[in-house]
Amino acid sequence: MTSRITHWIDGKPWGGVVERSGEVFDPATGVVSGRVDFASSAVMGEAVAAAKAAFPGWRDTSLTRRVQVLFAFRELLSARKEELAAIVTAEHGKVLSDALGEVTRGLEVVEFACGIPHLLKGGFSEGVSTGVDVYSVRQPLGVVGIISPFNFPAMVPMWFFPIAIAAGNTVVLKPSEKDPSAAVFLAGLWAEAGLPPGVFNVVHGDKEAVDTLLTHPDVKSVSFVGSTPIARYVYETGTAHGKRVQALGGAKNHMLVLPDADLDLAADAAVNAGFGSAGERCMAISVVVAVDPVGDTLVAKIAERMAGLRTGDGRRGCDMGPLVTGAHRDKVAGYVAAGAAAGATLVVDGRDPDVDGAAGGFWLGPTLFDHVTTDMSIYAEEIFGPVLSVVRVPSYAAGLALINDHPYGNGTAIFTNDGGAARRFQNEVEVGMIGINVPIPVPMAYYSFGGWKASLFGDTHAHGTEGVHFYTRGKAITSRWLDPSHGGINLGFPTQS
Ligand code: NAD
Repeated sequence: MTSRITHWIDGKPWGGVVERSGEVFDPATGVVSGRVDFASSAVMGEAVAAAKAAFPGWRDTSLTRRVQVLFAFRELLSARKEELAAIVTAEHGKVLSDALGEVTRGLEVVEFACGIPHLLKGGFSEGVSTGVDVYSVRQPLGVVGIISPFNFPAMVPMWFFPIAIAAGNTVVLKPSEKDPSAAVFLAGLWAEAGLPPGVFNVVHGDKEAVDTLLTHPDVKSVSFVGSTPIARYVYETGTAHGKRVQALGGAKNHMLVLPDADLDLAADAAVNAGFGSAGERCMAISVVVAVDPVGDTLVAKIAERMAGLRTGDGRRGCDMGPLVTGAHRDKVAGYVAAGAAAGATLVVDGRDPDVDGAAGGFWLGPTLFDHVTTDMSIYAEEIFGPVLSVVRVPSYAAGLALINDHPYGNGTAIFTNDGGAARRFQNEVEVGMIGINVPIPVPMAYYSFGGWKASLFGDTHAHGTEGVHFYTRGKAITSRWLDPSHGGINLGFPTQS
């Protein structure tokens, strides 16, 4: 039996008649588990109107009360995180422990947002002129839009909405239509936590819903995460309509392994970061850059570890689940064929894997290529699947140049025991997030997440203090009280006296 997944508008499930909908799959069985409503422009307009109506009341709700609601949400999310993780696994396919990990990383942003009273504190300068004080405040924007990808249906929305709501904004979230139920579950938790209706809305859909958010005059900002072509489109369209936009795009993350590295640690890291979540992470490692002479040894160690990985249903304690849809599995398998045809050495071929799961699941096993070159599509393009490429380079400088020449700049890692080399790398590499002997350097909630180059459009990263800055705008106030003197008319530019 398939369930209907509908929007959450003004504090309750939407009750309208749906015009268009899409299929939602259980990727581990290939069975259609639900149908998700696709919003027309008019339905998106209803959600924006509800958010707009809720804004003045929520903005004027005291900080103390807003934080109480956030703490209540935090408690509910913590108590029900297994339930949410199971929803993520059922629609995304990632294994349960990984789904729980994403919920935990989202929870950390909620905890960061619980500190909003401190984060919103402005500055105060007493007596800048005789009897005159200057101070600054940061105020919410109004209705803010969030558009999220399929690969983190719980965590990515939580990079944004806890901070947006804590700062006094109201939210319209358009989650991925591939795994929409996590967002609806989160909306239910907000209602239970005491968030007023209209402050958090979820609207499902495709381009029509996105375009309405991007062009609607009552939407003040858009936070987007997804592939680079759509991120670029969202940035250009949203800013052309006067909105503040942060659009996080795709990735191709390199792991540079220097000759002095601990190769067992590096091989563990390459396997964990290459095949965790079936490579469907924007911080996945997809290229290992082996500096001579480590190539042969490193490839052997990676292949040895891959032989022990169990691919299967994420509910059965396997290491790696299916890909999100059959179409995506076929696209990734197409890259494997293209890599082999282009002359890369196919060390481990994940097509036709042994799986612990139903025959109809969207399976592709871990795949390893060696001797990959920069002209191959498996190197140049984002694959977003369990395909790891090894590129061999003669030196640190050649490896660095390779990374800096790639159009993406989301994450990267260096494996070395040389502190000087690591320090040089962190300084010279043109990438937003860097790991030193750490393969997936996703910053903690109180730092900000974001890439460089084609991995981010806009100038503000997600969460941390940059997130607070994105969801607020500043005012500076100059005030004079009870000053008996009066300087009279003076058309000169005000200066201190
Ligand atoms: P996607 O770009 O296909 O979809 C992202 C969102 O955009 C979804 O909500 C989708 O409904 C919407 N969308 C899709 N096509 C659209 C169109 N033509 N017009 C308007 N909206 C459209 O991305 P995805 O496949 O869901 O997610 C995977 C991608 O996201 C990968 O490229 C991955 O690297 C990227 N990602 C990046 C980060 C990051 O932090 N940089 C994090 C997670 C995922």
